Amino acid sequence: MTTRIGSGYDVHAFTEGRPLILGGVTIPHPYGLAGHSDADTVIHAVVDALLGAAALGDIGTYFPSNDERWKDRPSSVFLDYTGDLLHEQQWTIVNIDATIIAERPKLAPHIQAMRTHLARHLRLSIDQVSIKATTTDGLGFTGRREGIACHAVALIER
Ligand code: MG
Repeated sequence: MTTRIGSGYDVHAFTEGRPLILGGVTIPHPYGLAGHSDADTVIHAVVDALLGAAALGDIGTYFPSNDERWKDRPSSVFLDYTGDLLHEQQWTIVNIDATIIAERPKLAPHIQAMRTHLARHLRLSIDQVSIKATTTDGLGFTGRREGIACHAVALIER
């Protein structure tokens, strides 16, 4: 049995006029996140953690931000593609753990829905997908409410 670990990190800035989508869940908030796709920071960090664990490059390798095909697309498409890619290479996902860093909005009411969304798209059980949220106590760009960051780790085996 070979076991591999991967890490992912992503940041998107708040902007007006877009929905806030995190972990595939639309969250009521006056600001969304700017980006080429739907700017789902959580899915982007998780995809990079999975690709990193398998040493298969990063999200930009498969979904470049200058490719019109991915403009305003749901990031769940990236999640499906990455799950299939790992499966093709005989990798099984053991677990995922993500930490969202955001001063606002309060994310606790949406964590379960995000876990369910990720688990469904990666064909995992919900106990294999952990998502947590924290603040930086007002410090830095997340503390100034300029954007949202997400760290993720993933363990895979074959
Ligand atoms: Mg991103």
